[in-house]
Amino acid sequence: MSVVYFVVPCYNEEEVLPETIKRLTIKLFKLIESGKTSKKSRMLFVDDGSKDKTWELIEKFSKENKLVAGLKLSRNRGHQNALLAGLMEAKRHCDCAISLDADLQDDIEVLDQFIDKYQEGCEVVYGVRSSRKTDTSFKRGTARGYYKFMHMLGVDIVYDHADYRLMGSKALEALSHYKEVNLFLRGIVPLIGYRSDYVYYERNERFAGESKYPLKKMLKFAVDGITSFSVKPLKIISNVGIIICLLSVLFFIYAIVSYATGNSAAGWASTMCSIWFLGGLQMLCIGIVGTYVGKIYSEVKHRPRYIVEKLINDKKFGSEEPDKKK
Ligand code: UDP
Ligand code: MG
Repeated sequence: MSVVYFVVPCYNEEEVLPETIKRLTIKLFKLIESGKTSKKSRMLFVDDGSKDKTWELIEKFSKENKLVAGLKLSRNRGHQNALLAGLMEAKRHCDCAISLDADLQDDIEVLDQFIDKYQEGCEVVYGVRSSRKTDTSFKRGTARGYYKFMHMLGVDIVYDHADYRLMGSKALEALSHYKEVNLFLRGIVPLIGYRSDYVYYERNERFAGESKYPLKKMLKFAVDGITSFSVKPLKIISNVGIIICLLSVLFFIYAIVSYATGNSAAGWASTMCSIWFLGGLQMLCIGIVGTYVGKIYSEVKHRPRYIVEKLINDKKFGSEEPDKKK
């Protein structure tokens, strides 16, 4: 029976926490009773440097409820970091971990399906919203546009999937090898590979408190997603530079013709030609520098170049000492 950890990042969530713990306890208890998960399964609440009573509540509940575990970060590090901290702690104890938000906007009734898919052999299970009824039309529109844009830039992310997902211990181990600081987990997880599947669910309203993702944080997150995964914007600069250089040739011809037919003021042709050509050349050069910067960027991230899933016949491949005499 597998040990399942629910990992819940919490930032100023005192209003929702008691209810969340109550509902999750009932759910986890049912899962344990029905023999789906081991008795060692836990809910791990990560306090992301909250300024309210979140940590006191986690401590209090952990004393009276043995399913509750807690992890406190020294200060607010943001949702993605808090989630990673929780997952890395869970990795030491669990067979698989499921991440979910403290406000239970993600329907916990589908948790069974996550675990079923894991037991069928999936290492990653993505929770996907089947509709976005509870979102404002602004959020729905921008989210749709954003996913499309990410795909255009060549980033492999799962459409309408946030951070409601199950990861098995192998996937968690692989995740620990991604050392990047600008975290965008929903971009990294598809890079890990392994067998994966989807679970569809309806997203509810936050039942208390306010969103901890104001527009400013959301925009930063969106920009992080693009700049951590795609160097295409840099390529676009080079391409625009090339196009402007080519256009400058056409302009050059036009200027000469104007000059020859006496249709231009003195000095106009030479000034215009240099503006166009130099503008294009500069942009192209920035693009070239950018290409190198992009390479440096991907090098410093030290992402794993591959992750081995299985190895057959490992004894044949020199687990014995090689014969030194030869
Ligand atoms: N959160 C966090 N640190 C932060 C901001 C948010 O740990 O700096 C947590 C928050 O407590 C919640 C989850 O991230 O469990 C998602 O936040 P929220 O529900 O406010 O986002 P929304 O659903 O509105 O996008
Ligand atoms: Mg929420």
